[in-house]
Amino acid sequence: MACSLAPALPHQMFHRVGAAPHQMMRKVPTPPPPPPPEEARLSDFEWIGDLGAGGFAKVSKVRHRRTGAVFALKMSKDADPKREEEAEVLRRAAGSPHVVGCHALLRGPGGEPGCVLELMDAGSLGDVLRRRRGRGGLPEHALAEAAAHCAVGLAQLHSRGVAHLDVKPDNFLASSRGEIKIGDFNTSRILYGGAGGEHPMVVPLTAGTRCYFSPERFAPGARAGPHGAMAADVWSLGVTVLELFLGRFAFARGLSAAALELAICQTATVGLYACRKKQRRRQSCDEFVEACLQREPVRRATVKQLLVHPFLARRDVQVSRCALRDIIVSSL
Ligand code: ADP
Ligand code: MG
Repeated sequence: MACSLAPALPHQMFHRVGAAPHQMMRKVPTPPPPPPPEEARLSDFEWIGDLGAGGFAKVSKVRHRRTGAVFALKMSKDADPKREEEAEVLRRAAGSPHVVGCHALLRGPGGEPGCVLELMDAGSLGDVLRRRRGRGGLPEHALAEAAAHCAVGLAQLHSRGVAHLDVKPDNFLASSRGEIKIGDFNTSRILYGGAGGEHPMVVPLTAGTRCYFSPERFAPGARAGPHGAMAADVWSLGVTVLELFLGRFAFARGLSAAALELAICQTATVGLYACRKKQRRRQSCDEFVEACLQREPVRRATVKQLLVHPFLARRDVQVSRCALRDIIVSSL
């Protein structure tokens, strides 16, 4: 089937990213005020179906009664004030093409916050992998394109002064248009001063999904400033890309918490060896993953460096975009 996607050059993809993470370190630009998401009421929407549920929220497909537009409605399971930060992150990231868009904010009957999100009609990348079960990881071109979208989404978030801190395939959302966007900001942390200030924050690294934790996050009470928090995301991106390559979680399944910690902290290259064995010519993928999975956070690539890594920058964008879209659509 001919692919009708418009071509995009690598530099076109990347120059949409705002200030680079290292630029954020020196001088924090005041982000332009994003358009505030509209206020809405729960009764403005009718339920169509369930889309998914995570630890903190339930996500449903809904239709706006007046306009007929279809969205994903993410309702928090409780009214914990910590949940408010997700809305603030969505406000900060507004307009980033690889961050899931938020159209409106509302409250449930118990005061629990809800976000009316753009509908990503293929679910998460984790869902795509589960639907492909038995068919292995993503083929070369689709893999490079998926990794590029994930890295650009993360870069867009970092450039707005936000660390995600729960990067994993279940938190990247896919559409049948062949796009991947980063979502789920429950554990995300704003890295520079609360109310728009420029003061760098030290944030806890202990929330999130342990299988995707970098070694330093296992230390009791682990915390980090902006550099460290962003480096933690880069590790998780490496594990995510490795999972997309292998078609299964990068470390052995069913490990106890202690064995998993040991595997991550001491044998982090295990997945890489599997990767190399499987297909030698995917060297640039190996190197990309290896740049993310450096045990020392200061040795890890920044997301800005990843964006110009040959694995992403040298891909044939048009071929890769079609390949990714085909993989997503064929999994539906
Ligand atoms: P939690 O914070 O509870 O983990 P998520 O935001 O990760 O919630 O959403 C849980 C699941 O709901 C996702 O893995 C995905 O399958 C689905 N989902 C979330 N947001 C959307 C969306 N915008 N469009 C389609 N599906 C979504
Ligand atoms: Mg989630």
